[in-house]
Amino acid sequence: NAEAAASLAGVKDADRKHVFHSWSAQELIDPLAVAGAAGSYFWDYEGKRYLDFSSALVYTNIGYQHPKVAAAIAEQAGKLCTVAPGFAVDVRSEAARLIAERTPGDLDKIFFTNAGAEAVENAVRMARLHTGRPKVLSAYRSYHGATSTAINLTGDARRFGNDTATAGVVRFWGPYLYRSPFHATTEAEECARALTHLEDTIVFEGPQSIAAIILETVGGAPGVLVPPAGYLAGVRELCDRFGIVFVLDEVMVGFGRTGTWFAADNWEVTPDLICFAKGVTSGYVPLGGVAISAAIAETFARRPYPGGLTYSGHVLACAAAVATINVMEEEGVVAQSARTGAELLGPGLRALAERHPSVGEVRGLGTFWALELVRNRETREPLVPYNAAGADNAPMAEFAAACKKGGLWPLVAGNRLHVAPACTITPQDVAKGLEILDGALTVADAHVV
Ligand code: PLP
Repeated sequence: NAEAAASLAGVKDADRKHVFHSWSAQELIDPLAVAGAAGSYFWDYEGKRYLDFSSALVYTNIGYQHPKVAAAIAEQAGKLCTVAPGFAVDVRSEAARLIAERTPGDLDKIFFTNAGAEAVENAVRMARLHTGRPKVLSAYRSYHGATSTAINLTGDARRFGNDTATAGVVRFWGPYLYRSPFHATTEAEECARALTHLEDTIVFEGPQSIAAIILETVGGAPGVLVPPAGYLAGVRELCDRFGIVFVLDEVMVGFGRTGTWFAADNWEVTPDLICFAKGVTSGYVPLGGVAISAAIAETFARRPYPGGLTYSGHVLACAAAVATINVMEEEGVVAQSARTGAELLGPGLRALAERHPSVGEVRGLGTFWALELVRNRETREPLVPYNAAGADNAPMAEFAAACKKGGLWPLVAGNRLHVAPACTITPQDVAKGLEILDGALTVADAHVV
């Protein structure tokens, strides 16, 4: 109708004139204007609905507009919108308690940040001060955020434009059997060689200079890289042996995404620090943080922690976290995520792989999966080269366009489709999404040689 068309024009016009978008050449983008969202869907001003298989940026774990969380935020706003971070306040205490009760081991103190990168910044700061050592080891292909320290810990190409502050960052290769950096052919071999490589890196860097090893528990942006059995336990052992702080970055995988509260629970590993954000509030209000072990908390028991944020533990964000965690508990969202992966997404995506020669590998768990698209299954040549742009990226762009045309919003990165719907997605919507992907994959198949 005319009203919707007019407001669409207004939204687009002001966006193009005044909004400076992330990661983009400003004149080469054309953002879709979103009019609303609910559950697993959002829609545009023409009323076209998209089944969101990306959960925004992998954070709407309970879907859009859960009424209980929206109401809790509104209720808190009516009562008390904000109070300085130095005060004790009911919802902040409760959010910290609910999070600490769900983290593994003795990670019982919570430092709140506004989002994921700040969680990484503060985890690294804590590790350096706790050990008195300067270096941090991180994995190639990883993503840890876009602030100065976090982007330089990042092991993917997004750091290339930011490579100015790498002091103290050393990168190593993590396990990735499908494209093994160690020429391994089995999971056990990949695990053993990856651990030997990490140990060699530690020894030749000098263990006395290494404060922390930071890892995504399951690599998110790198393409849902699920660690082989024994790898995280092996890293834990290396950290213990060399006095290194073990940081797990669970910004993308915490709060139900992999079918457990924290992804580390899948392997029963306890790190020294956990970074979280995204799913803790389903992104309704930005919140992140670091869960801290007793030993590291003790370092700052009588010595001031030299870090802080104006909005640390913002009251509205904490109210959103309390409501989100309670909803997840009441509605069994974590178990639902596990079940959806094991019974629907896993089998469904593997069935697609059988029909479509462009699918090289399917991997994942819970509501967190990736399809690796290839030109050839034998050679495993990626459908597009690493860090491709423009014409080089055309096959993936065509595939994404086909998904959108079918009514599914995909998360594509490099040569991969990441499948990360809401943890609360219904079986009907999983079936619908798989059907749309089935159609779109024929576009990718056309590039197979
Ligand atoms: N760490 C991981 C594993 C992430 O996936 C992300 C974002 O996607 C970040 C850190 C950065 O979080 P934020 O964008 O909230 O700063």
